[in-house]
Amino acid sequence: MQIGFIGLGNMGAPMAANLVKAGHGVAGFDTAAPMPEGVTRAASAAEAAKGAQVVITMLPNGAILRAVAAEVIPAMAKGAVLCDCSTVDVESARAVAADAEAAGLGALDAPVSGGVGGATAGTLTFMVGGGDAAFATVKPLFDVMGQKAVHCGGSGAGQSAKICNNMILGVTMIATCEAFALADKLGLDRQKMFDVVSTSSGSSWSMNAYCPAPGVGPKSPADNGYRPGFAADLMLKDLRLSQQAAEGADADTPMGALAAELYRRFVEEEDGRGRDFSAMLPRFEARHRG
Ligand code: NAD
Repeated sequence: MQIGFIGLGNMGAPMAANLVKAGHGVAGFDTAAPMPEGVTRAASAAEAAKGAQVVITMLPNGAILRAVAAEVIPAMAKGAVLCDCSTVDVESARAVAADAEAAGLGALDAPVSGGVGGATAGTLTFMVGGGDAAFATVKPLFDVMGQKAVHCGGSGAGQSAKICNNMILGVTMIATCEAFALADKLGLDRQKMFDVVSTSSGSSWSMNAYCPAPGVGPKSPADNGYRPGFAADLMLKDLRLSQQAAEGADADTPMGALAAELYRRFVEEEDGRGRDFSAMLPRFEARHRG
């Protein structure tokens, strides 16, 4: 397939490199990042999109996605598919899809989970919103870049799944960290705490697969000085998107709101910027009640 790839940062570069390795032709455009090996540099986003059957975007936010989409949609051939893999607000995802479909294109919102490690290994999970035909066109590319692609529904369903998942993740990580800090103060050994909770009703991915306590459970960023992994800044971004969506949809999400506020303080007022999101544990360790 001929593919246009716009946004070749930490995630986009390894994803594009995997498409090249699988034998696809990739024309790339980024305002700052270098092209990975085998990706042809285009002079603009529109240039990268010209003649492509699929255009993939992997950009920082919804405002940038909207600007890039306005540029590439008129350059794309009828029947081609615009597939956005960024994490953006549901409203931007739906607006871009509507514009693409009005221009005779297919459109998907297909955010990912799995981070830079998953992008490099080709083991991402894609959560996809959009039509059946567009999903079928891009599915072989999802199979190259990832290990699973779930077609969640119409436009915006992929972003909805992503922010709901990450809202659960933010809340359970905070709950796991504050419970460890309480267990410490009660004199409970961390390994015993893990042994009990990871096989009891308090278990979660945060405890079982990504344990925030160093030296306990499987290897995680806690064992690497809390270097990300999944940065607290990115968790804050996703929690803000979930709150924006909750406001738009009139949904009551008090735990998500509190998680967003705690990660905001951690990143903006404390020492959370650039640290893994599980570094909430040393944060709670250092605090007292009241
Ligand atoms: P990044 O900042 O490394 O990459 C974004 C790239 O977009 C940069 O290279 C930037 O130069 C480029 N860019 C910005 N404006 C542009 C424009 N107008 N035209 C062309 N290129 C432009 O970010 P990332 O870590 O690769 O993340 C990309 C997206 O994936 C984000 O939406 C993020 O939330 C999401 N995501 C990231 C991770 C992760 O672990 N890094 C995990 C899941 C999802």
